[in-house]
Amino acid sequence: MSSDDVKTGAPTPTGETPLALTRRARRIYRLLAQRYPDARAELDFADAYQLLVATVLSAQTTDVRVNGVTPTLFARYPDARALAAADRAEVETIVQPTGFFRAKTDSLLRLASALVERFDGQVPGRLRDLVTLPGVGRKTANVVLGNAFGVPGITVDTHFGRLARRFGWTSQDDPVKVEHEVGALFPRKDWTQLSNVLIFHGRRTCHARNPACGACPVASLCPAYGTGETDPDKAQKLLRSGPRA
Ligand code: SF4
Repeated sequence: MSSDDVKTGAPTPTGETPLALTRRARRIYRLLAQRYPDARAELDFADAYQLLVATVLSAQTTDVRVNGVTPTLFARYPDARALAAADRAEVETIVQPTGFFRAKTDSLLRLASALVERFDGQVPGRLRDLVTLPGVGRKTANVVLGNAFGVPGITVDTHFGRLARRFGWTSQDDPVKVEHEVGALFPRKDWTQLSNVLIFHGRRTCHARNPACGACPVASLCPAYGTGETDPDKAQKLLRSGPRA
């Protein structure tokens, strides 16, 4: 059965029928898409190379910090060939504000070399190629595929995983299992934007600690309602207008 179909038969984490779970999941997505009509990858990029580099830099830091260094980095090294030939100390200085700058510089230089040696300096547009690149896992590959190549992909980062479990869409912790279980609830064409919308909601409303349940547009559909503040006025104060700085 394809993911475009509404599944029937298998048990669900919430005890709902598979049909009810799928309908509730899609209603949640519709409401969140209305709440965040501008949801998108919050890393600044102009092409697949830039998004790949920015995503590698985003490990253990915020998108805001990455966006603070990438204009300088991309002006100096506009493509994989330039980055592969870069002076290590210079790259370290540029990416230092993102933390773990020695390891990240190492990752970037190895990544750029692999792109030059194996893909003629271009970022490949297939998952099976992307995940062979140094430092590129499924999460990074799906971010790049979905946002730079228009290939539907689910990005299971910390926000996506937490929300999918709170919504009762999955009980899995393993990101690959979360990806497959949630993917089965939605048409493929929605996967990338679903990821962006959930990550927006996780950053702005449904925080890891103290989710703003009283100001949440999907409260009536969420089994985890009450995990956080339910008083509307207090919850309103917990909302964030953007990602962490
Ligand atoms: S009701 Fe609470 S736990 Fe559920 S999605 Fe909204 S903020 Fe998150």
